[in-house]
Amino acid sequence: MDAMQTALVYLKGVGPERARLLKEELQLRTYQDLLHFFPNRYIDRSRFYPINELPQNNAEIQIKGRITAISFVQQKRGKRMVATFKDHTGQMELVWFRGHQWIRDQLKINEDYVIFGRLNWFKGKASMPHPELELEQNFQKNLKISFYPIYPSTEKLINKGISQKVIQKMVVQLLQSQSQAFSETLPTALLNQYKLISKNEALRQIHFPNDQHKLTRAQLRLKFEEFFYMQMQLVLKNVQRKQKIKGHLFEKVGSYFNNFFRDHLAFELTEAQKRVIKEIRLDMGTGRQMNRLLQGDVGSGKTIVALLLMLIAIDNDYQACLVAPTEILAQQHYQSLSAQLKKINLTVALLTGSTTKKERESIHQGLQNGELNILIGTHAVFEDTVQFKQLGLAIIDEQHRFGVAQRAKLWQKNEMPPHVLVMTATPIPRTLAMSVYGDLDLSVIDELPPGRKTVKTLHRTDANRLKVFAFLKEQIALGRQVYIVYPLIQESSKLDYKDLMDGYESLSRSFPTPDYQISILHGQMKSEDKAYEMERFVQGKTQIMVATTVIEVGVNVSNASVMVIESAERFGLSQLHQLRGRVGRGADQSYCFLMTGSKLSREAQTRMETMTKSNAGFEIAEVDLRLRGPGNIMGTQQSGILQFKIADLIQDQALLKAARDQALRILKEDASLKNADHQCIKRTLSALKFDSNIWNFIS
Ligand code: ADP
Ligand code: MG
Repeated sequence: MDAMQTALVYLKGVGPERARLLKEELQLRTYQDLLHFFPNRYIDRSRFYPINELPQNNAEIQIKGRITAISFVQQKRGKRMVATFKDHTGQMELVWFRGHQWIRDQLKINEDYVIFGRLNWFKGKASMPHPELELEQNFQKNLKISFYPIYPSTEKLINKGISQKVIQKMVVQLLQSQSQAFSETLPTALLNQYKLISKNEALRQIHFPNDQHKLTRAQLRLKFEEFFYMQMQLVLKNVQRKQKIKGHLFEKVGSYFNNFFRDHLAFELTEAQKRVIKEIRLDMGTGRQMNRLLQGDVGSGKTIVALLLMLIAIDNDYQACLVAPTEILAQQHYQSLSAQLKKINLTVALLTGSTTKKERESIHQGLQNGELNILIGTHAVFEDTVQFKQLGLAIIDEQHRFGVAQRAKLWQKNEMPPHVLVMTATPIPRTLAMSVYGDLDLSVIDELPPGRKTVKTLHRTDANRLKVFAFLKEQIALGRQVYIVYPLIQESSKLDYKDLMDGYESLSRSFPTPDYQISILHGQMKSEDKAYEMERFVQGKTQIMVATTVIEVGVNVSNASVMVIESAERFGLSQLHQLRGRVGRGADQSYCFLMTGSKLSREAQTRMETMTKSNAGFEIAEVDLRLRGPGNIMGTQQSGILQFKIADLIQDQALLKAARDQALRILKEDASLKNADHQCIKRTLSALKFDSNIWNFIS
């Protein structure tokens, strides 16, 4: 067995109790784990602060000086031991709250010490509680490293005596016990191309760097490696799936597609739409199963692309399904698609949580005997009882809500899995797409239909409300329609519901009948009531739609030209962008008002500014990532794959791109990793299979 797989209990100075604590608190089990347990920062041990130049904060620092006196101060509970510590510039106090006698016996008066610890300030005076002390002569002798690694730790470990010093000693012990070089995990060609240092050197330097330059090189090398192996696993999964899993062969584009394209398309497709349809058509014609992500900004026209692709499936005698994240959206898709599909005599059904038992039975039957061509629905489509005669293509309109597991469920519906196309509602940042969807192929619609005017976005506070209302009346007088959206955050839904109803009442006073008609839509309504209210708005019978975020995704009323978002500071950027995307769909100039209180957090302010400045979803997504961090954007479900030991999705974007390109290139040129220079990859991957959370996540 690999020596690096040795349990930590066998490392000198560890023992069963410490081994248990390290496992419980830091998930460190083996030599390998400890070796890859990287410091999160370093302290420059060559730097000493004069006492009269101490930083006015709680920094951890090093000072050279002498203890000149020791005293005990009585306090409420027990005693405190205080040492006066002087250098040639001034004096301060060192303080101990426990373990006095033992420490007292060690301390030497008037000898040169190097002390290290966290500064504490009280009434303008500095002290250092529980400093680490070393006689200067010993310090000089022991000083082999100028950077002092600080490892992530926990309260419990510190209380149990596993201090930074103890962890450092364990790592030193481990590094010294391994006299041979640690084996290389990256191909020589890559090391040369990116001028990366060896694994051996990187591991030694990351723990005990000689200087800043060496540390930076070590970090670069290890970050690259971390990204590279994440990408290797994702891309490999894609490659292996293509090798192993046969897919339905869509050989032709037939009469359904062609007739629809020729006779019923309401507009000319954009070049980007044409390009992605071609990409996807080719992918479905290889005999391998397609797994693809389709990204496009809000309003870029993903739905029509989905429809045309489903027609290709039907042309090849297969069925297709379209899965939406909410019932409202599923209904919308159903209404608009069934109207279009009727023109070419195709049958389509809607299946959601509120489909009646009777309807459900007839849908099940239609799917099984093949009479139904297309099924549109919510996650109800994933249920085991829903079986198709021959499902060829599944399109998932995703709002980061469907997990990988649910997508995989579609596979079990027939012997051979359908082609899968995942569409995201708003763009997601490139680095996240490469991670969370890194095992999928990618198509991007990078163009909006012609004639779209950018939505004018304005940030207003409650003080401006009357002016905003006056503006709404002007727009309504011009024949336009208005959305007014209230936040709905699940945990406090009762309160939010009250906000919505209060808002509705006050609007009814400002916009009285019969001049104005208002629709209302929220999650607690019965679905037939929702459909009714939505329909009234779609037909222009009401001018104002008051709603919670149930309208967030996909609702499409091109005459609506104003979006008012109440308590906009409570929405995330992608939600705001998605909501704003509900307007600007027609030929008229559209507007979006972000209504907030007058006091905003800095982050909320940034969100409002980003929205007023930019209409570009990909750009907004990047800001969102910087503000919230990867885990919050993708949700906990995907967070496993977003945990990196050293790499950073935000700061190291270019490195991730390089790592992905290299993984793609290598697997393209040498899919079975036969090349001699790729043996290290093979070895590392098989070791990773045993302990990587990435693998658990993606399989
Ligand atoms: P999203 O990508 O956000 O799902 P949709 O598919 O809902 O966008 O399309 C937004 C609107 O643009 C719809 O009204 C749709 O009919 C229209 N549309 C889509 N493609 C084009 C095009 N090529 N030219 C003109 N309008 C288009
Ligand atoms: Mg859409």
